[in-house]
Amino acid sequence: MRVLVIEDEPGVAGFLTKGLREASYAVDLADNGIDGLHKAVTETYDAIVLDLMLPGKDGFSILREVRSREIRTPVICLTARDTVDDRIKGLDLGADDYLAKPFSYSELLARLRALMRRGHSLQPNPITIADLKVDVMARSVQRDDRRIDLSPTEYALLEYLARNAGQVMPRTMILEHVWDMNHDPMTNVIDVHINRLRKKVDNGFDPPLIHTIRGAGYVLRHDTT
Ligand code: CA
Repeated sequence: MRVLVIEDEPGVAGFLTKGLREASYAVDLADNGIDGLHKAVTETYDAIVLDLMLPGKDGFSILREVRSREIRTPVICLTARDTVDDRIKGLDLGADDYLAKPFSYSELLARLRALMRRGHSLQPNPITIADLKVDVMARSVQRDDRRIDLSPTEYALLEYLARNAGQVMPRTMILEHVWDMNHDPMTNVIDVHINRLRKKVDNGFDPPLIHTIRGAGYVLRHDTT
């Protein structure tokens, strides 16, 4: 899951990006309104964390422009100005949630999870493919009742494939949702992580669930043939 953080205060921005990355999210950061709006309309995100008071362009204007372009990405507004008027204005403009500073990091994470769950409407938890269980709330993975330890990126990749189980996911889509803009697109980062995932999720188990579809991408599925 890939998150855009639009926040100009270095302390808050640093704390958010570090924390979200530790929780297996790919994070892009914009430290002003112009850059934030540009990223929001040109890149693909699963959620946007939007500060309201920003240099260049304020959060309300960004929200208005994003929604006017029919971009439905869930948005959580952050603000120091916790007034009812601001809250109503934000919600009217299409914000999905609102958090007043100072906020607790665990509350932000819980709200992000809730928003993304809504986006993936009614997906069961855990997601089960054959004997593989991906618990997206606990962020834990089991196969054949054995716990599998994954790095944050390996987990993010597996969760993305599990949420789209049965569908062949093109490499570009995987890159967009699992990696942030800090990766080098020329590297074989996906292949490397798919290989690591296979070692942990498929080696020693039967049948293999991670499949390479040549020229098309990757799919997580239980082939019964
Ligand atoms: Ca600010």
